[in-house]
Amino acid sequence: MSLHLDATHDPALRSWVASANAPGTDFPIQNLPYGRFRDLSALMAAPKATRVALRQALSAALAQHSPQQARLKDCLLAQTDAEMGLPCAIGDYTDFYTGIHHATTVGKLFRPDNPLLPNYKWVPIGYHGRSSTIVVSGTPLRRPLGQTLPPNAESPSYGPCQRLDYELELGALVGPGNSLGEPVAIAEAEDRLFGMTLLNDWSARDVQAWEYQPLGPFLAKSFGTTLSPWVVTMEALAPYRLPFQRPAGDPLPLSHLDSPANREAGAIDIALEVWLQTAAMRAAGQAAVRLSQSNFRDAYWTLAQLLTHQASNGCKLQPGDLLGTGTQSGPEPGQGGSLLELSDGGKQALTLPNGEQRRFLADGDQVILRAACERPGTARIGFGDCAGTVLPAPG
Ligand code: CA
Repeated sequence: MSLHLDATHDPALRSWVASANAPGTDFPIQNLPYGRFRDLSALMAAPKATRVALRQALSAALAQHSPQQARLKDCLLAQTDAEMGLPCAIGDYTDFYTGIHHATTVGKLFRPDNPLLPNYKWVPIGYHGRSSTIVVSGTPLRRPLGQTLPPNAESPSYGPCQRLDYELELGALVGPGNSLGEPVAIAEAEDRLFGMTLLNDWSARDVQAWEYQPLGPFLAKSFGTTLSPWVVTMEALAPYRLPFQRPAGDPLPLSHLDSPANREAGAIDIALEVWLQTAAMRAAGQAAVRLSQSNFRDAYWTLAQLLTHQASNGCKLQPGDLLGTGTQSGPEPGQGGSLLELSDGGKQALTLPNGEQRRFLADGDQVILRAACERPGTARIGFGDCAGTVLPAPG
């Protein structure tokens, strides 16, 4: 578990790179996120000790008064001059369901008397997603076509999705993997995680409602998933760890999903936000508006539990595999991490400051996810934007 704090986390540390010292920047020298000029997969496969050594070397090289400044300053490229790609080749992609407030709210829409199914508090629920349609922030998202059963219709039809939605998630990228047939003990799970990104799990709710039984999400989810380009490392997140707790009366995790370190610091305090800018707002020069806020500290399962659970049957995880956390919604009604929740299943339209209304996404809408960690006595670090704009359906 990455709880090791060292000189790289010192909140007083400043860099000779001026933009790293700007107030409110997502990327101060205490963050040191990785993005891709070249594929990061080789670095991600390295053991934790290598990652920690690299972080310490980078921090020393970029700190004010570093003797390496003269040699390094010509290597820097402005973010605005860099076209970022996905951070690595993503092999397999799993999407979990750790947001208990999301699971409860969405469950109520389908089963008012029994929102959480009996397995939820025992097993981290997940499904295998589609890695071929994961795209980097800034890539437009084409509204999908799909088969749906419209209300009161006797038979389904095929056409553009009418209930397009986003999901506010984080993604954890696997570092060193495990061998086929060999589970990962929870005590070793976090050392096998490289870092975290923001993740938007675009969702076609009308397609989902028709197709999901009995095998779960399929085409409602596989038309696009947007990832932020910067990987915030587990080491950078060390100052923001929190105890992992279950509400009184809830079952404790089974022993293979439990450890003293996971109880002590398995949760992470990451503030999350969703912003929306419609085409009309963009045309009028109006900035994006914030739709909701939540925090990853409210997740029902930790990253260590997700990785341990996924490997518990001997499933092989490899460097660059992606574990999505599931939608992160807060406990309050206005803290839903999707429009499905904020519009109460499409029944209650949201009114935006310019008078436009939304139950689900319209063509031209840009969805922006943001995340940051802040705690007194530490430097604020952020994740950078995870953005995508909806294009009309094909044809
Ligand atoms: Ca999801």
